[in-house]
Amino acid sequence: MDFFEKLTETFAKNSKEFADKAKDYAEVAKLHTKINAANTKINESLITLGKAYYDAHKNDGNTEFEAIFEEIHKAHLTIRKCQEEIQKIKNIKICEKCGEEVSADATYCSHCGAKLKTTDKKEKSDDVVEEAEVNQAQETKASDLEEEAEKKTVICPSCGQELDADAEFCTKCGSSMK
Ligand SMILES: [Zn+2]
Ligand SMILES: [Zn+2]
Repeated sequence: MDFFEKLTETFAKNSKEFADKAKDYAEVAKLHTKINAANTKINESLITLGKAYYDAHKNDGNTEFEAIFEEIHKAHLTIRKCQEEIQKIKNIKICEKCGEEVSADATYCSHCGAKLKTTDKKEKSDDVVEEAEVNQAQETKASDLEEEAEKKTVICPSCGQELDADAEFCTKCGSSMK
């Protein structure tokens, strides 16, 4: 074998090895993707399992997982408090029947016509609010007002209440707008 033959042979061998390596890498990457998908599946199932366990045992008290239960309970309270804050800022309440947002002073849900719980008139809070929070609230209010100005309205034929054009029920007297 002369020098050039040897060189060609080496080159061929190297490129075959290189191709094999590339194939291996592709195979490994594919397997990693499969592992990740399987891990996602496990995590989803664990969440489902955890939720089922939580719902079944949240009222048991003194369980093995009391600390975790407490964490979840606290997080739920935080969520509810934030939602109430949002409702206050946006001057809305949530219909208990259909879950839609309705104006805080509505007597009937504009989406499903259900009679709504009356909420106390917005009270002026005496709490000292951080300036940043106030500014944020005002910004929200301003964008809400812009939104409102663009909204088309209709008048309830039964009671004369002004309603959003897409309201299906009058928020004041509950009569159907269809
Ligand atoms: Zn409703
Ligand atoms: Zn009406």
